[in-house]
Amino acid sequence: MEQNNFYKNVLDNLYDGVYFADRARRITYWNKGAERISGFTSAEVLGRFCADNILNHVNDNGILLCKTMCPLSMTMRDGKPRQDNIYLHHKDGHRVPVLVNAIPLYGEQHEIVGAIESFTDSSAFQTVIERVKLLSEIAFQDALTGIGNRRFIEMKLRTGLTEAQEFGVNIGLLLFDVDNFKAFNDTYGHDIGDQVLKMVANTMNHNIRPMDFLGRWGGEEFIVLLQNVDEAKAVSSAQKLRMLIEKSFLRIDRRNISITVSGGGTLVRPDDTTESLFKRADQLLYQSKHNGRNQITFSP
Ligand code: GH3
Ligand code: MG
Ligand code: MG
Repeated sequence: MEQNNFYKNVLDNLYDGVYFADRARRITYWNKGAERISGFTSAEVLGRFCADNILNHVNDNGILLCKTMCPLSMTMRDGKPRQDNIYLHHKDGHRVPVLVNAIPLYGEQHEIVGAIESFTDSSAFQTVIERVKLLSEIAFQDALTGIGNRRFIEMKLRTGLTEAQEFGVNIGLLLFDVDNFKAFNDTYGHDIGDQVLKMVANTMNHNIRPMDFLGRWGGEEFIVLLQNVDEAKAVSSAQKLRMLIEKSFLRIDRRNISITVSGGGTLVRPDDTTESLFKRADQLLYQSKHNGRNQITFSP
């Protein structure tokens, strides 16, 4: 018994997230790491099903894994351990990248009675925290979302132009704008609109690389400055963020509420000024809007 307490204590306090699910995929255990990474307390998830609007893992292609290829249920079926890089749904709505590990859980007759999933936050969470802290200290923080403000992006952009033009570093600029946000506010109200903006900022903040810069440009517009990218990398980064925002959702009154963004992306050119760069990104964004929204238009 003493021994059991010892193991439970270790498991409870692991930095990584760990949970158990039975064969019906009902959650039977949820440790502190899982609370920290997902935002859901153990009281909120115990006894519920993981597909029940809790974690809702999606993969790199944005495919919802719960119904089709959930690592946990595949492991329960064939007894084989699995590892995968996926994105979980945080209680605040945004998407967090995690490395998951699923292993089968055996009963006394050596039958499979469930599975254990452990997950590690791969968003360089410490980097996200440090980034937000630094911004607040130097008055470069957007009050609503906690990410960089317009001044921050303007400063980083000036540095970026110099780096690109004097030292040949490849810098990418992505401009995102929330789709039909006016109508969204009219339907759900300004407060939920604000929550959505925070969710969008968090999804971006958790899914950019540590060296990239993120800021709120204005109302419902966001900018990402990508360091050292070629066209292919910049396009895939933009698409990944667009997809993860589409798959982020707020859970309000038992409904999932989400929005989409359109984006324009480009690379800094040798003869660019801040104005010419923005103008180009804005025109590309406009094309995405014109072509039906929830898409990226990119031109180097
Ligand atoms: P489009 O797809 O063409 O971008 O349509 P849109 O409705 O998003 O475009 P528009 O620029 O007309 O509307 C932007 C809206 O964003 C208007 C404004 O009410 C809302 N908005 C701007 N800043 C905030 C904010 O801080 N909080 C909330 N809740 N809404 C905001
Ligand atoms: Mg706008
Ligand atoms: Mg808009």
